[in-house]
Formats: sequence, C-alpha cells, structure tokens
Amino acid sequence: MEITAKSEIKLIELLYSLGIPAEAVLIEIGGKLVPETATAKKGHKINIIFYKHVPPSSSPSEPRGHWARAKPKSTCDKCKSKPVIYLPYAKVHLCKKHFSELFEKRIKRTIREYKMLKKGDKVGLGLSGGKDSYALLYTLSKVRESLPFELVALTIDEGIPGYRDAAIENAEKRCRELGISQHVYSFSEEYGKTISQIAKAGKENLCSYCGVLRRKLLNSKSRELGLTKLAIGHNLDDVAQTAMLNLIRNEPMRFARFNDPVENERFVPRIRPLRDIREKEVAAYAYLHGHKYDSGCCCPHATGALRWSVRHELNSLEDQYPGTKSKIATSFNTLQEIVKKEVSADNSNLKCCKECGEPASEEICMSCKMLSDL
Ligand code: SF4
Ligand code: ZN
Repeated sequence: MEITAKSEIKLIELLYSLGIPAEAVLIEIGGKLVPETATAKKGHKINIIFYKHVPPSSSPSEPRGHWARAKPKSTCDKCKSKPVIYLPYAKVHLCKKHFSELFEKRIKRTIREYKMLKKGDKVGLGLSGGKDSYALLYTLSKVRESLPFELVALTIDEGIPGYRDAAIENAEKRCRELGISQHVYSFSEEYGKTISQIAKAGKENLCSYCGVLRRKLLNSKSRELGLTKLAIGHNLDDVAQTAMLNLIRNEPMRFARFNDPVENERFVPRIRPLRDIREKEVAAYAYLHGHKYDSGCCCPHATGALRWSVRHELNSLEDQYPGTKSKIATSFNTLQEIVKKEVSADNSNLKCCKECGEPASEEICMSCKMLSDL
C-alpha cells in the first residue's frame, strides 16, 4: 500500500488512523526500511508492506500505551548509522548491521538452548519461498560456518495458483544463490489432488487438510532422504497463536504435541530455530537480506481461519503491551512440560498407519482418513 504524505506525519499515527498495528507491517520510505517511530515529510512516498493479510481492525484509532510514548531516534543505539527497526520490548533502535547481528545471535542461542543441532546432522529445511523459511535458510547457512551440518531444502507445492508458483520460483532462486540443494514435491503428484481442488470440493477446514497433508509429506520425504532433523520456519507469533488456539478450542492436550513425539522412530524430529523471534523481526531480516514482498505474499485461503483473527488480536495486544507474545510462548513451554507428563503414556502407544505406514495415533493416520474422505 503506497501513500503520499500530504503533510508531515508520524508513521505510527498514520498506521493507527488506518487501523493497522505496527506489529503487522514493515514500512519503507524512499526504498529503505524505517522504524515506525519515524516521521514522514510532506510528499514522501510511504510504502506499507503487509507480510501477512491484515483483517479489518478492532484497534484504537490513535496510538495508546507503548507507541504513544515511543520516542523517535535518528541513529542506531549501537552506532551512528540510520536505524531500520525499533524493538518496542527493548526500547532500542537498530541499524541493519546491529539488528542482523542480534537476530543471528538469538537464533544461535535458541539452537543451543533447545539442543536443536549437533555436528554431523543432516538437516532438511521446509522451504516455502515465504519470508520465514527464507530467513531460516539464510541464517542456518550462516550457522553452518561454525557448526558443520548438511543442509538441504524441501519445498512442497500444494497447488495454489498465483500464490505458490511465485513462491516456489523464489525458493529455487534462493537455493541456487546459497548453493543449497532443493527437492520439490507436489500434492498433485503425491496425493493426486491439489489443495485448490480440495477447496473446490467444499472442504471448510481447508488449512487443516493442507497442514496435515504437508506435514506427512515433509516427514516421509525427510525420512526417505535420510535426514536427522527437519527445520521449520515457525516464529514466535506462530507459537503464541498456537498456544491461544489450543485454549480457544479447548484442546489443552495439544500443548504436548507441539514438539513431535520422538518416541516413534518414523518421525524425523522437527526443530524451530525462529521460535523466539517475532514475525515482524523475521520479516524485517528477510527484507534486509534480499527477500521481496509483493502482492502475492499470502495464501488466498488464509483469511478464513480462526488463526487469522487470533493473529490480529495478538498484534494489537503486542503494540500496547510489548512482550505479550513472548510471555504467551513462555507459558506455552511451561504448560507443555506439565501436559507432557500426562500424555507420555499415550505417546508410547503411537502406531504406524495401516494404509501408508506413517506414524499415527490410531489404526489409520489423519491424512489417509482425510484423503479417503475426499
Ligand atoms: Fe494451506 Fe491454509 Fe496455509 Fe493456504 S493458508 S497454504 S490453505 S495451510
Ligand atoms: Zn548500528
């Protein structure tokens, strides 16, 4: 969305007058990323980059709480360069160099803390061509400089015309640039149906179908390739949303399932190195390292899901109370430990699906049930 400033205007005030939380967008002026604490001068072209759909707003029309108090700054808090981002929870402005350093340091810390990787691992990365998996590809290829492991990309083509085609092209280009080999698998070849065909069949919970079928393919292909870990681009927002969804849907036992039940040897363990980083920062990092945002950024089916509303509410909350997402994610970890103890007996009952041989909690796995249902 491009807007020409009619007079001098604070970016945060402009966003709020449009009902857009600062958490949900990046802003470019003159082709450069700027923090939302900045002011646009008369005639400036303000490019608001939506990296996800933003639903109609229930946000206040003017900044309140944190953003009403946030002070602009013309230099990075660590050096004299121009800032590209403001981190509200830490109250700091950072330039590209210092923001990237912080971002990479935090990923390395997450990898260490959760013991995600070890020397000699063969890691597959679920590369969709979107900002999250690109940011992950870029940082993991950097982490490899100090911790040697094999890295390959796995791309799933669900068959969403106009959205996935461009993203897959993007993913292929990224792999070529970084010298990483890539494997592409499609729903139509593996399942005989694209997700768009499933949508036409009138399935309401399309994202559940899509998610279950994609997870199965990623797992079975990782196993076939002999991979020891599967890296997924889930960020802090995804974790916080999942926690809220588990509560809203009254599915507390799902807290235990976020990390895969590694008891089953047919599961390739998943790692989420971006899990402690807000989506906005992942979007900014990807942008600063060459990811392009265009109008086809989001899946056209995304807007119907409950997750979409939860995302928006969390963004509004985070704007007013910086650190909210992080606190939800920490509670998630605590609850996960508690619930895990309750379900550990169930996990040991994991079987293999009678139809496809993939791990399942019942005789027939969820994806085989879904496919027979179509
Ligand atoms: Fe699949 Fe839903 Fe994601 Fe679209 S938004 S790619 S349908 S899970
Ligand atoms: Zn700096």
